[in-house]
Amino acid sequence: MLARTRAGLAAARATLRSPVVVVPTMGALHDGHRALLRRARVLAGRNGSVVVSVFVNPLQFGVGEDLDQYPRTLDDDVAVCGLEHVDVVFAPSYRQMYPREQLIRVSPGPIGALLEGASRPGFFDGVLTVVLKLMHLVRPDIAVFGEKDAQQLALVRAMAADLNLPVAIDSVPTVRDPDGLATSSRNRYLSDAERKTALALCVALEAGAAASQDGPDAVLAAAGAELAAAGRADPPFAVDYLTLVDPATFAAVGPEYHGEALLLVAGTVGTTRLIDNARLSLGAPEPQDGAGRPGAAP
Ligand code: AMP
Repeated sequence: MLARTRAGLAAARATLRSPVVVVPTMGALHDGHRALLRRARVLAGRNGSVVVSVFVNPLQFGVGEDLDQYPRTLDDDVAVCGLEHVDVVFAPSYRQMYPREQLIRVSPGPIGALLEGASRPGFFDGVLTVVLKLMHLVRPDIAVFGEKDAQQLALVRAMAADLNLPVAIDSVPTVRDPDGLATSSRNRYLSDAERKTALALCVALEAGAAASQDGPDAVLAAAGAELAAAGRADPPFAVDYLTLVDPATFAAVGPEYHGEALLLVAGTVGTTRLIDNARLSLGAPEPQDGAGRPGAAP
């Protein structure tokens, strides 16, 4: 069922059985979104309900970004939701979502100031504000997000914890096309040549992952070499950031770090900005002086 208004959503919500699982999206649904819808269906079970929101949220777009060009394909999205056994598609207008000037916004804190937040000022304020509003409108038991947007996922988890939201946050691994490119609504902007260049994102992540036993510097060097090569391609890849961070803080890890880390990359091909990431397990660095080596003399 399609709800275009808050009243329509409230009427539909009253008929839904628990658990209610929500998948927030900006539409132009692709295979990545579909993985989230399937996960939501599994979590909801046969008796529970799946709600998908489709809303291109102006609050999270900066000046000069692609708000006006962002693909809007609601009829196709509703059809996809039908195939994935979604109970309610909530696709509000701007006025339904923001009936008055939005004076209050969620402040994303220190993690929100880094990386995507540094490149796109106000982005995470906009994301968290619309997600919080959605949670109040839908009142889900569970919300499902993609690991492709790793920093967004971390911030949504932090918001749910710090603001005591009565919702469990679930996540789905990044879905990729057969060539390795992470599926994204923005991929449809890419020409064939741009798409070839854009593969540098996942090639760099793979190169970094292959070096993960050799420590952070080796990971960044391997991934960086791939991005540098893509920078000389036609059309070129322009790196915004390549960084290896602690998944808990999103602070860059030092050269001695070992354990779980996130390798994050962002950049532009033509006018299209793309992001990707991989979770790595960094090996313990080789001891330099024999200390700590099994069997070493004390
Ligand atoms: P968007 O419509 O781009 O705002 O994305 C809606 C949700 O889908 C977010 O939780 C994204 O992280 C998730 N998502 C987008 N692309 C992918 C992908 N390739 N794999 C997994 N999740 C994705």
